[in-house]
Amino acid sequence: MKLAFPAFAALMLALPALPVPDFWITQSIYIGLYAIVALGLVLLTGVAGLISFGQAAFVGVGAYSAAYLSTKLGLPPPVTLAVGVALAMLAALALGLVTLRMSGHYLPLATIAWGLAMNYTMANMESLGKYDGILGIPTLSLLGVDLGTGRGLHPLVWAIVLLAALAAVHLLDSRPGRAIRALKEGSTMAEAMGISTLRYKLVVFVLAAVLAAVAGWLFAYFQRSVSPSPFSINKGIEYLFMAVLGGVGHVWGAFVGSGLVRVIEDELQVLLPRLIGTSGNFETIVFGIVLVAVLKYAPDGVWAFVRRRLPQRERVRDWDGAAALPARDKPARGEPLLAVESVRKTFGGLVAVNDVSFRIHAGDIVGLIGPNGAGKSTTFNLITGVHAISRGTVHFRGQPITGLPSRQIARRGISRTFQHVKLVQEMTVLENVALGGYLRTRAGSLRAMLRLERQEERQLMAEAERQLQRIGMGSQMHELAGNLALGPQRLVEIARALATDPALLLLDEPAAGLRHKEKQALSEVLRQLKREGLSILLVEHDMDFVMGLTDRIVVMEFGNKLMEGTPAEVQASDAVRAAYLGTEH
Ligand code: ADP
Ligand code: MG
Repeated sequence: MKLAFPAFAALMLALPALPVPDFWITQSIYIGLYAIVALGLVLLTGVAGLISFGQAAFVGVGAYSAAYLSTKLGLPPPVTLAVGVALAMLAALALGLVTLRMSGHYLPLATIAWGLAMNYTMANMESLGKYDGILGIPTLSLLGVDLGTGRGLHPLVWAIVLLAALAAVHLLDSRPGRAIRALKEGSTMAEAMGISTLRYKLVVFVLAAVLAAVAGWLFAYFQRSVSPSPFSINKGIEYLFMAVLGGVGHVWGAFVGSGLVRVIEDELQVLLPRLIGTSGNFETIVFGIVLVAVLKYAPDGVWAFVRRRLPQRERVRDWDGAAALPARDKPARGEPLLAVESVRKTFGGLVAVNDVSFRIHAGDIVGLIGPNGAGKSTTFNLITGVHAISRGTVHFRGQPITGLPSRQIARRGISRTFQHVKLVQEMTVLENVALGGYLRTRAGSLRAMLRLERQEERQLMAEAERQLQRIGMGSQMHELAGNLALGPQRLVEIARALATDPALLLLDEPAAGLRHKEKQALSEVLRQLKREGLSILLVEHDMDFVMGLTDRIVVMEFGNKLMEGTPAEVQASDAVRAAYLGTEH
């Protein structure tokens, strides 16, 4: 299996030297060009969960730049490439900055508008040749070698596709890549790990646009003419179709999808006119029908079928002896750590947290208990910046953190788990925990694509494994997080939070779903963390668990703080007993 990619690469690069018909070469160039665009969509749509209908317009930017600059100004290919890519990047940045802050369907809508606007521009600008486009583009020559439009051009096209695919594979298996893969799960968890989700959405959107522009640049020199129609919204949908058909989540799906679409497209061009006449654009309709069918019956695409039949490769354990990641200076025991002052949160008319105050000193384990709906998780969300505080203040290590975005709070040393577990299902346990080490590492997207960050990656993996072993899950590190039962998933969340090297750890019902033995083990881990000086705020329903573990307990009911005291005091309180008996039984 290890040789599959080199063999495939060698075959594609050597194809022109083999005795294959010219038609094959032409087809293969088209497939390569499509695959470059589809690869961008695999990252954007499949991995990050963002949809763009406008990729054809980015292809157009690359193609028209090459066409205009080479015919009108006589500029050489490297220059036309640089200009095309730069323009596509600027357009993607502008579109992305405007729409990616907003959730939901703004990006797809904006890409439709962008696609239409670009097409309209191409078709109406005198200097771009209007509907006729630009003719007479020279063939591509690099370093004095004329590559022509067939067997000479093929190796360049495929070298670019293959390198792009390799870069994408490298990227996905890296610090920025895991951040991108986490985007599909929503922003709350990623931001709580210190990741700017906007930044990574922009990164993939720009990356996809650049890939499209590079394909467009090749396209111009290959066809030697450009006109508006290959860059229309229809084509944009077709690119999306390739990514979906191949399998949006997988880099190799881009190849399968573009190959299939090119072949089907070709067959249809011959077949459809014979069946239903030549008047009309029936391919689009057929593609539309197939797209709906694929989404319904094979949402993971064709590649997923292939992948399931291949042996799963385990990550090579190459991090023995890696240096430790940097650690923050920890507060001294007893130092004031967290001060929550009269914080309030209202959701419409509902007061979920009503002027609650409490303090945590370094080294404390504080329990936060109360019946369901008391406002415990909301309190967590206020401390960690997931929800905006309606009133009141939170100080951490003497500094106000009220109103800071959640990733800034993470940076200061508060980490948390979620009552409703938020793991990236398709990532392994180890990779999920590595997300926690995001802020302790630096590698950027470009370094990751070039594999220049492996030293740091080994440090990060060593840290992730260490945290997993600590909570007794070392043996499951290669499993997909989505395959675990809920209890172990909660443990993975704790390991992820620990990987951030927190000064304060917030655990929201960590023992829920654990068996008795597992609870005891967890309790022992938390005790060990306390001995190491870590401070913990713990929401838990299991009274035995809380009583044996905590120094102090804050009790909430209906958003109010009912009382605060030692476990013994809380246990003896009639008010607390009434609160629990009143709502739970
Ligand atoms: P607990 O964790 O103590 O069980 P929560 O903090 O989850 O309680 O919820 C407290 C109250 O706030 C509940 O009535 C809940 O329905 C409400 N609530 C929590 N989050 C939201 C939200 N995002 N929007 C509206 N209401 C919410
Ligand atoms: Mg809760």
